[in-house]
Amino acid sequence: MNVYDSARMADVLAPLGYAAVDAPDGADMVILNTCHVREKAAEKVFSDLGRLRRLKDARAETGGTMILAVAGCVAQAEGDEIRARAPFVDIILGPQTLHRLADMVARVVRERANPNVRERARVLDTEFPAEPKFDFLPETTQPQGVSAFLSIQEGCDRFCSFCVVPYTRGAEYSRPVAQVVAEAERLVGHGARELTLLGQNVNAYHGEGPDGVWGLGALARRLAEIPGLARIRYTTSHPRDVDAALIAAHRDVAALMPFLHLPVQSGSDRMLAAMNRRHDAEYYLRLVDRLRAARPDLALSSDFIVGYPGETDDDFAATLRLIETIGFAQAFSFKYSPRAGTPAAQADDQVPDAVKDARLARVQALLYAQQTAFNRACIGNTLPVLFEKPGRHDGQLTGRSPYLQPVAVAAPAGIIGEVRDVEIVSLNTNSLVGVLNARGEGMTGGDALRVSA
Ligand code: SAH
Ligand code: SF4
Repeated sequence: MNVYDSARMADVLAPLGYAAVDAPDGADMVILNTCHVREKAAEKVFSDLGRLRRLKDARAETGGTMILAVAGCVAQAEGDEIRARAPFVDIILGPQTLHRLADMVARVVRERANPNVRERARVLDTEFPAEPKFDFLPETTQPQGVSAFLSIQEGCDRFCSFCVVPYTRGAEYSRPVAQVVAEAERLVGHGARELTLLGQNVNAYHGEGPDGVWGLGALARRLAEIPGLARIRYTTSHPRDVDAALIAAHRDVAALMPFLHLPVQSGSDRMLAAMNRRHDAEYYLRLVDRLRAARPDLALSSDFIVGYPGETDDDFAATLRLIETIGFAQAFSFKYSPRAGTPAAQADDQVPDAVKDARLARVQALLYAQQTAFNRACIGNTLPVLFEKPGRHDGQLTGRSPYLQPVAVAAPAGIIGEVRDVEIVSLNTNSLVGVLNARGEGMTGGDALRVSA
């Protein structure tokens, strides 16, 4: 989502003459787009700010200026702290006001130029009205390449007890279908062959359609009709918001990739209840059964939190059991990180850090073994690969399999943007290695790759 938001900020700033550069050195403006979902991400902001301050000072010494902005959820949640600890920051804006960035920059430039303004200009987005940003954002102008992000939904009303997202990204909002389709068509016009639909809780999507409210399943069907669009993905989903129409779309829409990131967080019913996830482990298992019945080659990914307040060894064992039962192709796992303002942060049965560390190591070892087993099972198979960009070595391209695995293939640059059948021959640490399949035979939908680790 932050990658997408950064591209939209570049869109907003383009009419002012700004264009993105690769490094902050020498830039006229630096925007730090931040994440607040776990403590580590938030901490990074202040250490990065220290470095950027030195760049800004160095630029001032040579007679230049730099505008420094902090955007994203840390700016939203810790704006006051940033103001106190980093007064050299010029603009502080949350994720819901990025459409106002040009006004904010203009204000900084104006005040700097005004000899009567002695105080350093500092712009806070709280000075701007709250309004639905998607109605004000300019058309997408930044080509995102072969694989592009498209935000269709923002915010979240689920209030899982550990999560800061409903507080930083705000209430759930779905963009109207026509707006999403128009942006999708523009991205495809700029060369995108794959779209990843984004939302904090993307499958809660309920956008105004031509004939009433549309869910994600209907939207996927509509987007699949766009000529030139080969692949559709979406992230991130809540298990309770997977409806029958979405499952049917996985059965019917070939462009909807057979890879689903469906966070479960824990395998313990007690923890799931405490987390306010509103489903139990059995619900998740049955849901995965239904999805796999609709799309037998569906591979799954998930998020796990270990060391949630009150988590016992038994609770943790239930998580390991769920992982063993499902078999994930890939997953992310995190130590529980208390976020100020969320209910779980106030719980008095916090789990000691050493216990969290030990559990994280165990869960990651299991997930890694499953991922490796899944990747290994691909060897000898032919997979359709969407070629995205030059690879690490000369004469090599990198693409993605349907299961989001990076695949390195010796291939001519001319096929970037095409989907070609690739025979998988070996594994690297984090990617597959394949050769172009001259016979052009792809894997059929029924050839499920199942994990047994
Ligand atoms: N909307 C998604 C996830 C958003 S946050 C969902 O419903 O699952 C991405 C992931 O970060 C979460 O799935 C969760 O595993 C992790 N996460 C969120 N808050 C966290 C916290 N306080 N501590 C540790 N991990 C957290
Ligand atoms: Fe956070 Fe996802 Fe829960 Fe919403 S559904 S509160 S984004 S974890």
